[in-house]
Amino acid sequence: MAQFKNLMEVLKLLNKSNCRKCNEKTCMAFAAEVFKGNRPLSDCPDLPPEILETHGLEHSALKERSDEFLTLISAMQQQIQDLDLLTVAQRVGGTFADGRLTLTCLGKPVSIDMNGKIISDIHVNHWFAIPFYSHLTHAKDKPLTGRWVPLRELKGGKDYFRLFNQRCEKPLKKIADDHTELFEDLVRLFKGEKVEDHYEADISLVLRPFPTVPVLICYLKAEEGMASDLNVFFDEGAEEKMPIRTLYTLGAGLVNMFEKIALRHWTF
Ligand code: SF4
Repeated sequence: MAQFKNLMEVLKLLNKSNCRKCNEKTCMAFAAEVFKGNRPLSDCPDLPPEILETHGLEHSALKERSDEFLTLISAMQQQIQDLDLLTVAQRVGGTFADGRLTLTCLGKPVSIDMNGKIISDIHVNHWFAIPFYSHLTHAKDKPLTGRWVPLRELKGGKDYFRLFNQRCEKPLKKIADDHTELFEDLVRLFKGEKVEDHYEADISLVLRPFPTVPVLICYLKAEEGMASDLNVFFDEGAEEKMPIRTLYTLGAGLVNMFEKIALRHWTF
């Protein structure tokens, strides 16, 4: 087991959502148990494999997760090989040239070839790869409605909205509360589009992880006697482009990316 110098060193690695999936009441309590050597870091199911890898921990747990991921990716690549990428490109707002479908994802081009291999200058982790494959195989040829709704109002949303609130909206609100300027920078970094007069919010931005799967984030700053608030909205037709489970994975992935960037600025 790797040695940590102090409890905060462990805490920095966790997403601080206090989701309790590890059966501890808070991430801080879990970090204390890890620091004392009572529990392995891999007991937090939300730690991405690269963090475990960086810390050289629990190679068997890491291998198990990597194997699972590789099997899933391989099955999804198989499905891509059966698709007509030219037709799919038209459905998902992409282009097709030289045997590759290309989408602009958060302002950056990401391509996929006919073997299902993703090609991009940006680092593609499983948070992104799985929604990417799922989007291409699932997207229907239907235009977006232009109406924003919270996840719970989507057809399958009732099964996911609590988890989505816990894993996406709450951690995102924490980033916005602690680092409001950084939060604004982050959305700029990901080519967010400012939305004027849409919702009563101090920050309203649309991010486009995929051209036809926009995400609206509305943040209301705290004022005297009023707590801050943050809500995430999807197009009412989002499930025609991606299954609800993948929308959740996508939201959690965005938060994960934001947290990593925010962590670099945090000092304890
Ligand atoms: S499962 Fe991970 S993220 Fe959730 S409370 Fe435990 S340590 Fe924190």
